[in-house]
Amino acid sequence: MEALGTAYRGVMDHVARFEALPPEAVIKQDTLRLGLRFSEAAMNIAAGFKPKDYFIFSFDLIEIKDMQHREHLRVPEEIRLEGGPLDLRSTVISVRINPESPYLVDLRDGELWLTCDGEPVGRVQYHPVPTFYHEELSNGKPMGEIAPVLEWGYLIYLTAYRMCQYFNKKEQCQFCDINRNFIQQRKAGKVYTGIKSIDEILEALEHIDRLDDKAKAYTLTGGSVITDLQGVEEVDFYLQFIEAIESRFPGRWISKAVVQAFPVSECQRLKDAGVRIYHPNYEVWGKELFAQICPGKQRVVGFEEWIRRVVDSASVFGPENVIPNFVGGVELNTVCGFDDVDRAVAHTREGLDWFMRQGVVPRFTTWCPEPLAALGPQPSPPLEYFCKLLLAWRERFRHYGLPVPPGYGAPGPGNAVFSVSAFMDVLDREAP
Ligand code: SF4
Repeated sequence: MEALGTAYRGVMDHVARFEALPPEAVIKQDTLRLGLRFSEAAMNIAAGFKPKDYFIFSFDLIEIKDMQHREHLRVPEEIRLEGGPLDLRSTVISVRINPESPYLVDLRDGELWLTCDGEPVGRVQYHPVPTFYHEELSNGKPMGEIAPVLEWGYLIYLTAYRMCQYFNKKEQCQFCDINRNFIQQRKAGKVYTGIKSIDEILEALEHIDRLDDKAKAYTLTGGSVITDLQGVEEVDFYLQFIEAIESRFPGRWISKAVVQAFPVSECQRLKDAGVRIYHPNYEVWGKELFAQICPGKQRVVGFEEWIRRVVDSASVFGPENVIPNFVGGVELNTVCGFDDVDRAVAHTREGLDWFMRQGVVPRFTTWCPEPLAALGPQPSPPLEYFCKLLLAWRERFRHYGLPVPPGYGAPGPGNAVFSVSAFMDVLDREAP
């Protein structure tokens, strides 16, 4: 028998060792951590499916200029994995391009499969192109540029502003490539809108409203505004989109806003305009790491004030509707992070406990060490970290008896559609 590859053996060892986690969650975290590569045949098939739209960051482990096979134009947004030796239930995973990954999507006997070190992991499906993607906008831009969908069609992602002013003084979050990704996309010839107009977003949503019944939520977001944008401050800039969407399509989708942590008075304005779910992302726990990893947010708001505002905003939105994100694994970065998995998890768990004790449930995205981010290319944290993080997150969540976070669809393995971490996959299953 041939020796199994290190990555395959590693992931299977983790599936066995962390038997309290669904195997789907372990595979998903490993795939997100290491990225994916695609064979020519797998990319040719992807041409008939929904492409990776680059909805905000690159979320790739390689720059576009280094892609030998024009992967950025040819890979799908997400894969859905199932079956295989572990008999996986349906698992939706965001595509992060990495030509060095042990995970390969390939065609085998006429079927798409995910393999790891050549060993089969599960059958793969791509997401069909949504019907509304075929509609034409009056300014000629593609629908997938103005209102792309993610999470297997569940979420419409509206990045109103594709830049962030924290980059102006080189004080951007150190894991973030938003402005540099904008530049590389433009250089690569993609239609990529710096500041979207309300009109083009409303026009795109008209098509979705008419033709689609899968999307249940939308996220309105973009970079931070520190001085002003088009003459207005951040809260006013994003408010005008929410107001326009909610007055044209009241309650049609669950509305979410990913913006900075605002004082209660400004949160109230967001709420009054129609924001249901508020994501004031704290990115990383702890004053010291926050200052190093998010120097702009530290200067403008500060860690203590940021987390205080997060909790205060629960009085406006209701605690279950305040869902701050953190970047899972960035506390293990090699520039200023921990060098020990257990210490990193214990540190992050402290933050989870602090928020959850007050009824606020953070969620995480899996850190992607993008080469254009200030932290630069570096190894992803080990799979052990993500397994222990998922256990810690779920343990605190259950300890405080908290409700399933709204706006992510049905929880549990086989149901979860959130594609950039497995936090929804580790919850108990509910009927979809
Ligand atoms: S606030 Fe931080 S994470 Fe958000 S866009 Fe700006 S630099 Fe990136």
